[in-house]
Amino acid sequence: MLQLSFQPILLELRHPFRIATGMRTHTNAVLTRVRYGNLTGFGEAAMPPYYGENHETATAFLTGAQKILQQHDAPFSIAGIMTEMDVLAPGNHAAKAAVDIALHDLWGKLAGKPVWELCNVVPADMPPTSFTLGMDTPAILREKLAESEGFSIIKVKLGSDDDRAIIRTIREVSDKPIFADANQGWKNPEEALELIHWLAGQNVLLIEQPTPKDDLSAAAWLTERSPLPVIADESFQRMSDLDRIAGSFHGINIKLMKCTGLHEGFQAVRLARKRGLKVMVGCMTETSCGILAAAALAPLCDFADIDGCWLIRNNPFEMPLLVDGKIKLSDKAGLGLVENPVFE
Ligand code: MG
Repeated sequence: MLQLSFQPILLELRHPFRIATGMRTHTNAVLTRVRYGNLTGFGEAAMPPYYGENHETATAFLTGAQKILQQHDAPFSIAGIMTEMDVLAPGNHAAKAAVDIALHDLWGKLAGKPVWELCNVVPADMPPTSFTLGMDTPAILREKLAESEGFSIIKVKLGSDDDRAIIRTIREVSDKPIFADANQGWKNPEEALELIHWLAGQNVLLIEQPTPKDDLSAAAWLTERSPLPVIADESFQRMSDLDRIAGSFHGINIKLMKCTGLHEGFQAVRLARKRGLKVMVGCMTETSCGILAAAALAPLCDFADIDGCWLIRNNPFEMPLLVDGKIKLSDKAGLGLVENPVFE
C-alpha cells in the first residue's frame, strides 16, 4: 500500500519578490511523502497566489489522493495514478504535482536509479539555469546581482514603468545574458515590439509572456515580428493548452506546478518539440525537491530557469549542486534529495 502524508509550510523568500502583477514575501507550499515499505518518495506543491491554490485547497485534494494511493502497491503506474488524480478533481495542478514528484522519487528509490536515468535523460545536455531578479530599486538590484555569482544567466522581471532603466542598471555591473519576463505587463504591442528590438541589442536572449495571457492575437502579432523568441508562461498551463496557443508563441515555459508534474511534463516537452516549439523549463519559489524534479527534465529543454530554491531561506533539503551555472544531476537513486538537518 502506498501511504501519502503531507505537511503545509510557508517558504520564506530571501527578498520581497515584486513582479508586474504583485509583490510577496512568502509562498504557500505543501511537502508530501509517499511511503512504500521502508522507502519514502518526496514531493512538493508550491502555490503562488495567482493560480488559486492554497493550503486549504491542497489539503482537501491530498486527503482525497491519500485514499486513492492506498489502493496501489509497488510496482505502480505513475500514468495510471495521475489519470486518477485528474478524475479526483479538476485544477489543483500543484497538489497533483506534489503526488507526481513523490511518486517519481519513490520509483527511482525502488529501482535504485536516478529519475533522469529512468527517463532516458542525458545529464550532459543540461542547459545553464538563470538566476531571477524581481523588480527593485537600483541599489537592491545590485545587491541581488552580487548573489547571482554562480549563475551565468540573469532573469529579470519587466513590465515596470521604465524597463530600460532596469536593464541599464544590470548592465552597469553585469554583461551576463538575460532572460526578460514581462509577466503580461506590456499592454501595447507596438511599444512592446520597439522595446524588444532595444532588448535584443542588450544581450537579452528571450521574452517571456509579454502580453496579457488571454490576448493571443497580441502575442501572435508580436511573435511574428519579434527578433527574440517569445515564450508562453501564463498562457500555457497544461499540455492540452498547446492547441489553444498554437501559432501565438515561439515556445513554452513548462513548470511542474502548472502541468501536474514530471509525467505530463515529459509528454509536453515531446509534443512541443514535434510542433517545432522552443522549450523552457521554469519553476515557482520551491524547495530543492521541486527544483531537482524540474532538473531531471531540463536536459530536454533549450532554456532553464530553475533557481527557486536559491530564492528561499528555509529549504528543508540540501541545495542542488551548481557547476558552471548548471545544476548537476546526482547519481543518487530517485531525485537525489538529502533532507537538511538544520531545518528539521
Ligand atoms: Mg514567467
